[in-house]
Amino acid sequence: MIDELLEEVKKAREQGKKIGLVQGSWDLFHIGHLRYMKKAKELCDYLIVGMDSDEKIRLRKGPSRPIIPEKERYDFIKQLDIADYIVIKPANEPKWNLIKEIKPDVLIAIKDNYSDEDIIKLKDYCGNVAILPRQSTTSTSDKIRKIIIKNNEQKITNIKTDVTKSIDELKKRINYQEDMPTPIPELIANLHNSTDGVCPVSAACLWNNKWYFGSNQIDLNISNYDIENRTELFYNLVEHAEMNLLKNMGTVKELNTPIYTTLFPCDKCMKVLIAKGVKEIYYLEDHPEKNWSKRSHELANKNNIKTTQMFTKTIKQEEIINEINMNNFKYIYPPNAREQEQLDIMMNMENNDHDPLDMKYINQEILYTTNYWFITANKFPYEDVDKQILIVSKDPIYRKEDITNAMWLELKEILNQISDKYNIPGGALCYRFGDPALSGASLKRVHLHIIVPKEEKKVKFNIGGKRTLKKGLIIK
Ligand SMILES: [Zn+2]
Repeated sequence: MIDELLEEVKKAREQGKKIGLVQGSWDLFHIGHLRYMKKAKELCDYLIVGMDSDEKIRLRKGPSRPIIPEKERYDFIKQLDIADYIVIKPANEPKWNLIKEIKPDVLIAIKDNYSDEDIIKLKDYCGNVAILPRQSTTSTSDKIRKIIIKNNEQKITNIKTDVTKSIDELKKRINYQEDMPTPIPELIANLHNSTDGVCPVSAACLWNNKWYFGSNQIDLNISNYDIENRTELFYNLVEHAEMNLLKNMGTVKELNTPIYTTLFPCDKCMKVLIAKGVKEIYYLEDHPEKNWSKRSHELANKNNIKTTQMFTKTIKQEEIINEINMNNFKYIYPPNAREQEQLDIMMNMENNDHDPLDMKYINQEILYTTNYWFITANKFPYEDVDKQILIVSKDPIYRKEDITNAMWLELKEILNQISDKYNIPGGALCYRFGDPALSGASLKRVHLHIIVPKEEKKVKFNIGGKRTLKKGLIIK
């Protein structure tokens, strides 16, 4: 092509014609382009129009450009009948290649395209460089940018309306009440951050005493058809709420607190949650008819993940409300509190991030300490008790697995010491472990009880508990 062009240029020069060169992408041809090309033609007798190939434009302006393909742009310029020759510039040509090959008598350019230095250098290859001002106030790039932004703004406005509508429908379906327990109102509020108008989803997790949230985000470039038809293909293109939740939480290795979500997680999210160590999932709604939901339930079952639908008719709402909240405490398990005063103290400590069984915060006499344990009286003894002594781990240990051999051995000595010291002829050494709803413990730090009953009496030591608060007690 370039050989043919050079042949034509040679011919024109022989006829005494002044050769001009003007270059551009000429995408979405507008009035500025036309004026520019016409002015260029006025400055010469034989105008060569350089036009960037699709590939060249894509490399420079991104995958969404050009809007008008090469062939159409070429035909359009040809139809204008201004150019004497149109040359399509390949992507890989060296800098200023066409200028150097043609050595035009006049190179026509727009002010912003070349620096002053460039213009001086260009004079080595051209007879003259004619700099024209921009022929219209906005370039094609600016126009396209504005169109895209406007489209997206419009799309976002529409999505926000749709999201609000979808949230209202969800609220009706679950019979939403504003006094529903944390994190349900927060989950519902967070739905407004979703960009999926058809099915906004929100997920939450309490981590280190802080609630984290995530909502699903759709790519604004997905066609409405895909969104409205809810194909599994579309489902793959959405950034799911659970993924965004994990993103917002940063690096968490072992996620041992429950995940709450407005919609049962899809199988892909489930896999990620399993890998993160999640053991419990609470959800408001599900789509059991969808394949992703079936696959996801199977995954949860196989991996012993407890999944609970919140606010179903089969389970009493208050029970779930309490159950959700009861799992959120770091040091205490309120359902096993026996008295309001005890619960108040427990809550006060928990709210200040104080472990009530930390020696620092024990507000009572410490009878004595050993290497691993400290010994104190139980402030809230059981009925018909003569003596109730607590043996508490000095270190913040919460699981039986973390009790060392040395600690166990020391317990043997402590039992003998206490029996001697407090003249205890008989009683029981009791240790609760594991899930507090099964053990009956109200405080989570490892501790043991020595219980001595009054003569002729039986002491009831509860093993096992509930997942809801004792009737009549309230968290203030
Ligand atoms: Zn998902």
